[in-house]
Amino acid sequence: MANLPEKATHRQTRTFNQQLVLRAIYDRAEVSRAELARLTGLTRTSISALVAELIRDGLVEEIGRGKSTGGKAPIMLRLRPQSRHAIGLDLGSTMFSGALVDLRGGVVKSAQVELEGRDGAEAVEVVYGLIDTLIRRLGKESVLGVGIGAPGLVDSRAGIVRWAVNLDWSELPLGAMVAERFGMPVVVANDTQAAAVAESTFGTIPWPQNLIVVRVGRGIGAGIILGGQLYQGDGSGAGEIGHTIFAPLSLSDEDERCRCGRMGCLETIASMPAMVIAAHRRDPSISDEQALIDAFCRGDKQVRKVVIRAAEMLGEGIATMIAALNVNHVLIIGPATHLGPDYLEAVRRQALSSALPLLAKQTNIELGETRGDDVVIGASAMLMNRELGLSLAR
Ligand SMILES: [Zn+2]
Repeated sequence: MANLPEKATHRQTRTFNQQLVLRAIYDRAEVSRAELARLTGLTRTSISALVAELIRDGLVEEIGRGKSTGGKAPIMLRLRPQSRHAIGLDLGSTMFSGALVDLRGGVVKSAQVELEGRDGAEAVEVVYGLIDTLIRRLGKESVLGVGIGAPGLVDSRAGIVRWAVNLDWSELPLGAMVAERFGMPVVVANDTQAAAVAESTFGTIPWPQNLIVVRVGRGIGAGIILGGQLYQGDGSGAGEIGHTIFAPLSLSDEDERCRCGRMGCLETIASMPAMVIAAHRRDPSISDEQALIDAFCRGDKQVRKVVIRAAEMLGEGIATMIAALNVNHVLIIGPATHLGPDYLEAVRRQALSSALPLLAKQTNIELGETRGDDVVIGASAMLMNRELGLSLAR
């Protein structure tokens, strides 16, 4: 701090204090200036000046007088959730979807574009088109920026998609490209990490500060929340368990080669497409995820074998994370949640019997709600967090 010019230091302090106040207002339905001073430790004078700025920026409003605690009843303040929106994008495998998301995680408008096989530069054009569509719906004034959830390995500090095999993107500086084109701040994150942020920020269950969110769909990945913050690791790849080879010795002749080129990755056994392929081999009438889910829930013996093996392999993966992180809460999200309680039970059994018993005893593995907009909302939350300092996790 000592070498910084005094002006810069002053500006930083001011931004920090403003974010502190905004966060305190954000966390409460309504709050008075006196309470803000108490909550933040700032003086009444500073609070008055900072609140005046937030009101001028439209982020906060006065909503009349609250209850008196002796003297004159204080004027109450609250956040205006619709004063700003993030554009959140989910770059899925067959479709890109996006939405305008308000400061409380509410989806205001959404849009989708089918990819129809487009990849490389063409897929980037689809991203641009989707952002254009969403900006047109609301106007640029209230848009804070763009949060993008992308598949594959993403360096979210640099905004670079390092490797997304389905989109044929490698070392793509997507963040810089979108920022330059639209003149807005951009956050790019791995889609599963974004979904984990959505769960810990806006989920209906008040999750604790430490949480592992495992997403099982076309691929498998985990988002790790530690101390209320997304933990991304040194290369932003924390939680990329899908291409880990967990049990090379238990490979069967039927297992497919992974899209990463190797054999035995968790994804080749426990992802939804892997289960469909294995079930199809036993029963040709099963050719998509819905048929797999129906047959499993019906109790089809052959399909149960396939799904339970997948669940157990996933359980192994989760056990490894429990051992590494000793996080007590694990949430499974994505299409696999439709497989229901028997699937969950098999994952649990394997994870808890493979982990150290003392750690396993404290661990709680659950299925999340099946909602489709986790990635969009999570990517938006990451953008809001960066731009407004609303470290949104509870
Ligand atoms: Zn792989």
